[in-house]
Amino acid sequence: MSEQNKILVINAGSSSIKFQLFNTIDNQFTILCKGLVERIAIKNSNFIIEIANGDKFIKHEVTKDIPNHLAGARVVIDALRQYQVIADFADIKRIGHRMVHGGQKFNSSIIIDDKVIAGIKSCIPLAPLHNPAALEGLSSFQELVSHAKHVAVFDTSFHTTLSEEKYLYSVPYDWYKSYEVRRYGFHGTSYRYILEKLTNILNKPKDKINTIICHLGNGASICAIKNGKSFNTSMGLTPLDGLIMGSRSGIIDPSIHGYMCSVNTETTIETITNDLNKSSGLLGISGHSSDLRDVLASSNDKSHQHHLQSQLAITMFVQRIANYIIQYANDLANNVDALVFTAGIGENSAMIRQLVIEEIKVLNLKLVASKNDDQYNDYLEISDKQSQIPIFKIRTNEELMICHDTYNLLKNI
Ligand code: ADP
Repeated sequence: MSEQNKILVINAGSSSIKFQLFNTIDNQFTILCKGLVERIAIKNSNFIIEIANGDKFIKHEVTKDIPNHLAGARVVIDALRQYQVIADFADIKRIGHRMVHGGQKFNSSIIIDDKVIAGIKSCIPLAPLHNPAALEGLSSFQELVSHAKHVAVFDTSFHTTLSEEKYLYSVPYDWYKSYEVRRYGFHGTSYRYILEKLTNILNKPKDKINTIICHLGNGASICAIKNGKSFNTSMGLTPLDGLIMGSRSGIIDPSIHGYMCSVNTETTIETITNDLNKSSGLLGISGHSSDLRDVLASSNDKSHQHHLQSQLAITMFVQRIANYIIQYANDLANNVDALVFTAGIGENSAMIRQLVIEEIKVLNLKLVASKNDDQYNDYLEISDKQSQIPIFKIRTNEELMICHDTYNLLKNI
């Protein structure tokens, strides 16, 4: 295997670094290992690496103190060597980094240089939690693997095709002009991956595909894609807008901030923003968990302390998804090639898919229950022939998409 063709994909969050290492030969990508450094700068940091072995992965896990991102990056690099995934640092020549917010500056993935770093820094006010963490991940790997070339892949760039009437909020126009207040949209890397998959599944060129993709994970959003381009999406200025999520509120009345500050003297804009991000969504309504599996279990268990709240959380979660699908079918003039469910919940929860489809009354959508429940690897069509829109569950792979972009941008360099 050529050592030159290893691509490391990094997704650095505020207290974590997720990574995957790929081997590339002739435009074919094989995963060599994947893993996670978690609880960075928190007690009992944890490191997990899973090394590919045929169809399976062999997992190693270590608990140790990891005080910052640089130390976390060092743990990753050392582990690649220790477990003989690579022979040397020198094997890693290309690194792709997930960047959450590219603002209006980045409409595609890009090779990182000082100007790009300055551009990402200038987007920090738009993503104060995400962009600094990703930049810290970047600088750590730049320091440790100084010979490598780096690429930035943005969650937002796929949505730069939104038209003005879709991306503007109905607020004073100067907020947009002076402060870039607008809808940006996220999960673009996942949507691009699913779109590529659909070109094969539907045997249709990308620019002819109209689809509605439900990316339902802890973070959740929906995207309407028209002629292969993002046409509408549920997340906005930040990833807080839109659907009900694990711990994020999604859409709320914008007056809630002011109201809460006026009735509770301990409340500030910061505490509200924190609660809307971390204590709302499935967690807030169910009263006990942001994890859909827990909420589904308690909603089915009458003896559970939070049984009724959990049922309510599921109902609200499902209704909002259904309403977006209806709106986006209308946006696409009912000309939809595929409705897709993806990410942790979308890929794995037959119950949520079924409840969402049952909730949609104005379109004639029909699932085949056995297919909805079936095991699958990559994708499966789960709708009945009579369904007005074909429905699929498709496993997303954002890391592979980042790897593709990194390969394509750097292949001739
Ligand atoms: P993110 O990447 O946004 O952190 P994921 O895409 O990993 O999130 O999705 C996490 C969500 O997927 C959790 O709510 C989890 O409960 C849900 N999930 C994962 N596997 C299953 C499953 N088998 N059945 C139902 N829900 C699942």
